[in-house]
Amino acid sequence: MSETLTLTQALLKKASLTPEDAGCMDLMADYLQQRGFAIEWMNFGDTKNLWARRGNTSPLFAFAGHTDVVPTGPLDEWHAPPFEPTIKDGLIYARGAADMKGSLAAMMTACDTFIAQHDAHAGSIAFLITSDEEGPATNGTIKVMEALEARGEHIDYCIVGEPSSHKTFGDMVRVGRRGSINGYLTLIGKQGHVAYPELVENPIHALAPILSSLTTEIWDEGNEYFPSTSFQISNINAGTGVTNVVPGELKLVFNLRFSSELTPEVIKSRVTHIVDQQSDDYEITWQLSGLPFITKRGELTDAVIKAVQDVAGITPELSTGGGTSDGRFIAPYGVQLIELGPINETIHKINECVSIDDLDSLSITYHKVLENILL
Ligand SMILES: [Zn+2]
Repeated sequence: MSETLTLTQALLKKASLTPEDAGCMDLMADYLQQRGFAIEWMNFGDTKNLWARRGNTSPLFAFAGHTDVVPTGPLDEWHAPPFEPTIKDGLIYARGAADMKGSLAAMMTACDTFIAQHDAHAGSIAFLITSDEEGPATNGTIKVMEALEARGEHIDYCIVGEPSSHKTFGDMVRVGRRGSINGYLTLIGKQGHVAYPELVENPIHALAPILSSLTTEIWDEGNEYFPSTSFQISNINAGTGVTNVVPGELKLVFNLRFSSELTPEVIKSRVTHIVDQQSDDYEITWQLSGLPFITKRGELTDAVIKAVQDVAGITPELSTGGGTSDGRFIAPYGVQLIELGPINETIHKINECVSIDDLDSLSITYHKVLENILL
């Protein structure tokens, strides 16, 4: 049994439901300390964060990831209990197997073999590990990055272990992420009896042309690195539940995944302009989840492409698709950052699983990236 698999199993047995770490970081810290890493705990609020660094020189290469996992969902739909890792047909099943305890194990064993072979490597290696990625993400990576910045500790290169692969291991890596912003719109009307249309203002009717404009708007064309910006509505709520009352208000929740062609300010003004044309009584609030970021072709993309080619025999697609990750908190500090991990097909699902062979390939790939950057 490979050491990567053994470590993966040990991490998966710990029920680290976000924002709980459940001892995962202690296991990692012990392992890394034995390999020359200085361990530092950076805890904020209820969140545990680990900063482990080996060496004091530049460049600084960091592995980043999270130990927390999303809820299991209905237990009776799992083939086996989600915190008792089970192996079947070359796959290991458990909550967090693909997202992303397998990656954490691969990072650890990659460092183990790299250090064993190249003890006098250039630069430094670090681990930035949080247990607040799947939750609100307020006391995790974002705070650690602020603390590192405040004391002048700069990360040059970063690999985030998020599951980036699509169909086969290494076919896709993420070099950036779209921005994400949520809008909360309340249209205010006048409640009344359906039989007296002259006495009511129906906010559902007011929404119809707004909905039409918002859903057909072409927000941008994207660019070399990003697909075009997308708009989706996640919730519409209105109505009292009875048949003879026009409701007094309507609530709409929507999200835009946006390219670097747009800014939150431009998005807000364009949405507001559309709503203004149909309603003069509404409220709108916004929640910005992350700005778009991109790692352009350079040392890290070259190092990762070469490593994946060596191990998997394919050239990875450089993608900016998918959801948000903690990369959004690291990249803005001028860090070259890539997400490289196993296949993401089952993440957050019932019976989440990952290929054991892929985890071994991932460990070798991480090892080769270290060689390509630090030798
Ligand atoms: Zn994740």
